[in-house]
Amino acid sequence: MPDPMTRVLILYTGGTAGMGKEPGQGYRPIPGFLEKMMRRIPLFQEPEVPAWEIHQYDPLLDSSDMRPRHWSRIARDIQAAYEDYDGFLVVHGTDTMAYTASALSFMLRGLRKPVLLTGSQIPLSETRNDALDNLLTALLLIGRFHDRLAEVCVFFDNTLYRGNRTTKIHTEGFDAFASPDFPPLGEVGIDFELNQGLLRPRPDAARELKVCEIGETTVGAFRVFPGLRVSFLEALLAPPVQGLVLECFGAGNAPTDPELMAALRAARDRGVVVVAVPQPLYGAANLELYANGRALLEAGVVSGRDMTVEAALAKLFYLYARGFGPQQVRSQVQLDLRGELTEP
Ligand code: ASP
Repeated sequence: MPDPMTRVLILYTGGTAGMGKEPGQGYRPIPGFLEKMMRRIPLFQEPEVPAWEIHQYDPLLDSSDMRPRHWSRIARDIQAAYEDYDGFLVVHGTDTMAYTASALSFMLRGLRKPVLLTGSQIPLSETRNDALDNLLTALLLIGRFHDRLAEVCVFFDNTLYRGNRTTKIHTEGFDAFASPDFPPLGEVGIDFELNQGLLRPRPDAARELKVCEIGETTVGAFRVFPGLRVSFLEALLAPPVQGLVLECFGAGNAPTDPELMAALRAARDRGVVVVAVPQPLYGAANLELYANGRALLEAGVVSGRDMTVEAALAKLFYLYARGFGPQQVRSQVQLDLRGELTEP
């Protein structure tokens, strides 16, 4: 049964859910609008819905404008309000939701409460929309499971995902997200079904929430393509770059052009950490399988296994923000820190 005393803080960062259209312009977030709508809709006031308050960001952003400093702000706000609420709902645009969810999963260390991210493909202002269901059900989920969920999740289209396993797969359908290499944590049909065995263990009550803020470390992601020229790769790896997520062909392959390999080796020698993840949506990188993958290993590339690009990138940001040097980043990036990868 939901606990009627549950309190949820909604961190409203922007995104389609609270957007409106002005004549002749595209959708953009309208300050105050989401709260006004939610206060007006009786369903959000029902007794089984946890008590909620909205903390609206200024400015509200289309999530394409989110930067690491915005992730840090969300994490700091969660920390500041941590003792006063049972859970947190981050209302966010879908475009970069998987990046923010991944980053928050690393930044919030010792998390004992649910942090759910949601948004929508159609704004709440439209008669037919997915915002109502996503927001309402996310609140209900926090109400019901706040003492069991202790991780950062994305809730979308009746599915609860581990946040750092998600990726946006649809620009139009309501099923905007998938978690290709990890089963959903829960599904909502007639009943709420949580996949208990998959949840992250809840740290004990004495453990304090620690926030590691992420700065503007120079890391990036790049998709390998047939015909890749060494000049491209050299430019991408040039100082002050500290890390690169290399989206490889298949199970972790790239062209074995000796010049490309030399560029990677030189970058490794300068301390740049290059992490290989697969371009295919499903399955892990295995750099030992093919000679091409082995050439990458020899050039100093490390395997990101089944991490999404979003998780791998956020992890590099996080590990550098912890102050780790290249050797520690190389080893930590290959470990399962928050359920973001499957270790062999
Ligand atoms: N461009 C929007 C955003 O990411 C898309 C959305 O919310 O679905 O903020």
